[in-house]
Amino acid sequence: MRHENVKNYCLGIESTADDFSVGIATFEGEILANVISAYVPEAGGIHPREAAQHHSQVAEKVVAEAFEKAEISPKQIGVIAFSQGPGLGPCLRTGATVARAIATYLNVPLVGVNHCVAHIEIGKLATQARDPVTLYVSGGNTIVSAFDAGRYRVFGETLDIAVGNCLDVFAREAGYRQKEGMPFGAIIEKLADKGRRYIPLPYSVKGMDMSFSGLLTAALKLLRQGKHRIEDLCYSLQETVFSMLTEVTERALAHTEKPEVLLTGGVAANKRLQSMLQSIAEEHGARFCVVPKQYALDNGAMIAWTGVLAYKHGLTVPVEKSFVRLKWRLEEVEVPWVQQT
Ligand code: AMP
Ligand code: MG
Repeated sequence: MRHENVKNYCLGIESTADDFSVGIATFEGEILANVISAYVPEAGGIHPREAAQHHSQVAEKVVAEAFEKAEISPKQIGVIAFSQGPGLGPCLRTGATVARAIATYLNVPLVGVNHCVAHIEIGKLATQARDPVTLYVSGGNTIVSAFDAGRYRVFGETLDIAVGNCLDVFAREAGYRQKEGMPFGAIIEKLADKGRRYIPLPYSVKGMDMSFSGLLTAALKLLRQGKHRIEDLCYSLQETVFSMLTEVTERALAHTEKPEVLLTGGVAANKRLQSMLQSIAEEHGARFCVVPKQYALDNGAMIAWTGVLAYKHGLTVPVEKSFVRLKWRLEEVEVPWVQQT
């Protein structure tokens, strides 16, 4: 067993949606464990209650596995962090219950972490970005953000569905089944690689915000017509939605003149999106940073690390006040550890 006498470890629990994950981080920012158990629905989208049931069924095993990986004992944990929001109510409450139980049992403080902040912080930790414009794209969120005047500000976001959700629904309607290690977005990426013809789709950027639902409806209509190759449809879908994301990110970058562009969240794994953002970063003299794949999807390591940052600044929450916050917005979150550069 390593590092036996210190309590400098944070255990973080992620449970905002379909993933239940436990990470363990040192107070210096070394990630010792990051165990993820994904709930894959039999059919259709994520059913919040079924996902929550999955989380409660796997919690004990995932926690035990994280300790095994980290090679520490529960007694060495100094703080417990959990994703307090935003997310699906039943899923959040299941993770929070596990976190409260462990914190109470070990008699250590509890920290409530904002899920979106955690995606940014793990990206910064892993890439050494200091003050980036961040594009955070996942199954539930689409946000262009940068730090300003004490908070992570939202420069642009989706007005309806998240970009990951748009890709997921399209792939599901096209008859694909997602498997562990092969999310819908990755299936689309593979098909899009073989696309040759661009089929126009509605491009919907309004100011700094984006809308994906009309575009999805149009893409589904084309799919059902059965006239186009699926590869061409996936290619066109990707080109259109990623161009929208890139346009808004570029405008935020031009406005803020930040030194880096950070791509984070589950959709960050996409190579085509990476290359589009890389080119706008280069044009503006900014460094392009992308979160490593193991921290792109929802994960406990990002909660553990953000928990460390919050804990060091005294942001703990008493168990009796640790309610989950389903609609907790990014710009509402205190981030005293971030410095203006
Ligand atoms: P998260 O919500 O952060 O767990 O991310 C899940 C989302 O990432 C889902 O919408 C996936 O389809 C999407 N995703 C995962 N891998 C890829 C990829 N290679 N390209 C595009 N989207 C992806
Ligand atoms: Mg997920």
